[in-house]
Amino acid sequence: MNKLVTENLAKVERRVQAACARAGRSRDEVTLIAVSKTKPVSLIEELLPGGTRDFGENKVQELCEKCEQLPGDIRWHLIGHLQRNKVKYVVDKACLIHSVDSLRLAQAVSQEGVKKQVTVPILIEVNMAGEESKFGVKPQEAESLIREIARLPAVSVQGLMTIAPFVSDPEENRIHFANMKKLCVDIKGKNIDNVNMNVLSMGMTGDYEVAIEEGATMIRVGTGIFGERKFGERLETMQ
Ligand SMILES: *Cc1c(COP(=O)(O)O)cnc(C)c1O
Repeated sequence: MNKLVTENLAKVERRVQAACARAGRSRDEVTLIAVSKTKPVSLIEELLPGGTRDFGENKVQELCEKCEQLPGDIRWHLIGHLQRNKVKYVVDKACLIHSVDSLRLAQAVSQEGVKKQVTVPILIEVNMAGEESKFGVKPQEAESLIREIARLPAVSVQGLMTIAPFVSDPEENRIHFANMKKLCVDIKGKNIDNVNMNVLSMGMTGDYEVAIEEGATMIRVGTGIFGERKFGERLETMQ
């Protein structure tokens, strides 16, 4: 038994609750996604008795392999960059694809959704800080992309996702989270058919408390729960 993972989760949970309290938000407005990428199935299993069901993976193949080995009531979130040729493997396994950032990708997802007769819930990934190395659309392009995606038959836009810069002081990311919330409210106000802007996926181990204070409804915590990953596996960027 690796008790560490459940202890880590309990610590994160306490901090999530405290952040919700500070922001005057209810704890059930925030879904904690345990990011299990690169970690073995046995560590995920440690968390199941406690009721954790939302897990995040950044690679399609790894998500599919783990999905096969673990109980069917787990909600698998695809949080990493998705290539069009991998779409067919994941549309009916992920509960939410967080990383759609082009019309071409959304079209591929929708086509596969039509084939499998499912409507695929997606988020639009936005590069809030304008980092060269990151995927995601520019904030000013999000609305027009969403308008185009909204016309596709088998995808359903649920909100936005961002990966904030890697910083030592999480306060540096507050502005990006606040801008993302503004963008979300703004697009929601346009009442685009077939689009609901209820999900804001933002905040990771280093900055999830600030993200909650600024309105995150999903936070993605890996290291804080499962411990460090091997070097180079922190994030999947374009390099
Ligand atoms: C790896 C990853 C996370 C989790 O990162 P930690 O810093 O370990 O919490 C969150 N979001 C995405 C998109 C990731 O790839």
